[in-house]
Amino acid sequence: MTATKETHVFQTEVKQLLDLMIHSLYSNKEIFLRELISNASDASDKLRFEATKDDALYEGDSDLHVYIEADKDARTITIRDNGIGMNRDEVIANIGTIARSGTKEFFGQLSGDQEQDAHLIGQFGVGFYSSFLVADKVTVTTRRAGLEHAHGVRWESTGDGEYDIETIEKETRGTEIILHLREEADEFLESFRLTSIIHKYADHIPFPIRMLGTPMPAEEGEEEKTAEIETVNQASALWTRPKSELSDEEYNNFYKHIGHDYEDPLARLHQKLEGKYEYTLLLYLPKRAPFDLWQAEAKHGVKLYVRRVFISEATEDLLPRYLRFVRGVMDTNDLPLNVSREILQQSPAMGAMKKGATKRILGMFEDMAKQASDDNTDYADAWKEFGNCLKEGIIEDNVNRDRIAKLLRFSTTQSDEQTVSLETYVARMVENQDTIYYITADTFAAAKHSPHLEVFRKKGIEVVLLSDRIDEWLSSHLTEFDGKKLQSIAKGELDLSKLGENAEEEKKEHEEAVKSAEPTIEKLKTALGDKVKDVRSTDRLTESPACLVADSFDMSGNMERILKQAGQDIPSVKPILEINPEHALVKRLAGLESESDIADYADILFDQAMLAEGALPEDPAGFVRKINALLTQ
Ligand code: ADP
Repeated sequence: MTATKETHVFQTEVKQLLDLMIHSLYSNKEIFLRELISNASDASDKLRFEATKDDALYEGDSDLHVYIEADKDARTITIRDNGIGMNRDEVIANIGTIARSGTKEFFGQLSGDQEQDAHLIGQFGVGFYSSFLVADKVTVTTRRAGLEHAHGVRWESTGDGEYDIETIEKETRGTEIILHLREEADEFLESFRLTSIIHKYADHIPFPIRMLGTPMPAEEGEEEKTAEIETVNQASALWTRPKSELSDEEYNNFYKHIGHDYEDPLARLHQKLEGKYEYTLLLYLPKRAPFDLWQAEAKHGVKLYVRRVFISEATEDLLPRYLRFVRGVMDTNDLPLNVSREILQQSPAMGAMKKGATKRILGMFEDMAKQASDDNTDYADAWKEFGNCLKEGIIEDNVNRDRIAKLLRFSTTQSDEQTVSLETYVARMVENQDTIYYITADTFAAAKHSPHLEVFRKKGIEVVLLSDRIDEWLSSHLTEFDGKKLQSIAKGELDLSKLGENAEEEKKEHEEAVKSAEPTIEKLKTALGDKVKDVRSTDRLTESPACLVADSFDMSGNMERILKQAGQDIPSVKPILEINPEHALVKRLAGLESESDIADYADILFDQAMLAEGALPEDPAGFVRKINALLTQ
């Protein structure tokens, strides 16, 4: 252990964060108090949890609380807790660095636009560093519960790149933070200002927040009265209070505390469940996706409490992965306190909570979807942020697959926006249609303009347009809805002969064209050789001469490209070239004799079809040369 005073430099990211924060969050400086109280509350939670196994950690003082004091003469605000405290290594690791995963990506996302960045910074959580919004010097003294008095730590910084750290004697456990206020932050020295911030942001903190009250004025002849210490907040766990007593504002402030968010949530769910297991859920849907939603180690956002004692944060055992964006608290009476987290996490009570919470979150989405209208865009907004997570749910959650399927919203040939549910699709199916048709492509434009859609347009049949990366996986897991099969229109043979008007007549015409195209197909097969699995006529094209399809059980071309881009070494699947026997280009081919002409035509047809899928021909320059030769003929 080093007893000497040392000077350390902040991690680069901390410097960046401090700099950004001071310049972007100028309008909302009061949040520093929320953040510091929040940390003090977490520290008390941690102590209470550790003390369930080792009572000695209380050091004879189990009255956990936060004390706040303003000193007008010294121009300081002090925030003191008797929570878990920190040892020297913890101080260095926790305040001076940002250890969170995704920090680099976070800084990459910052745009330079102050308002937008303020949101991001809010999501990221400024925590302790928000002290520097109001202070030009911050002094922290702390001692971890259970350590000897000689193992206290003093940390001090002016927020400009460096901090000092020193080992000191500290009698009481826990953390004391002294903010030496900037001149323009003097308003925070007024105790009414502090109490109003505490009411606004910290009423729900389950520990008492105490301040020195204002003394009653002394009556004539009386001795001067001394001020008494008062508890400023409600100091009860919010989720244990009855719904009827709670205002939207209280709910929202609690969300901001646990969700580390600036914005109000989009929706919430507060329920006490009594059955075989007893538990309370207070869960929120954020307005925006957390910045790390798509990173492998995305933080889960639900905290576990047992009989109001905090057990663990952001645990993955409380909700399935696809619901990782949900924030909130689950509290149960049915788990023992003094066993390890590992044992807790395997208990049947945890399993029951996870199942129950999942169901209710899906119920919350269903309610939002039901209420959707031109004036109520909540569900549409939620879909934009979390739709792809719900798609993961189709893959991950067998039990709830049917419910989740109803929550999905798609673009289709009738709607560019992702607003069409499968129920709506089914209700709009044409006569005799018994299949839900979809197409997958790299981009929305490629899907929307795919030649595969031509016959569907002609017959007025709606097709679901899938262009998100996850859609390939989605479609392989979602094979049926409401008794109707889902079918890719770019796979296998297509039989639409029963659908649409004039079906009989068209069928006859087409059959004749198919017959006359037979010699052309033979020519193409010879010319393309190994490049294709087969060449055949199709009635799915009305304007384009050709398209590529995958065999019914082969991987789609789009899937193959996604996997290859992801670096997977997979064998190429040969596509089937389908031609439109009625197209002028195909008819022209029938009249060609020269082998090299036929080969060029065949290549052009094949490469065009490739381009229409949004992929590049194998030899782009060759393609261009052949087209140009044709154009100048
Ligand atoms: P966050 O709270 O989001 O983790 P902070 O920057 O606010 O980020 O705090 C970083 C870490 O410092 C906390 O996770 C905690 O481990 C530690 N810490 C902060 N304040 C306290 C405190 N009052 N008592 C004990 N530990 C604290």
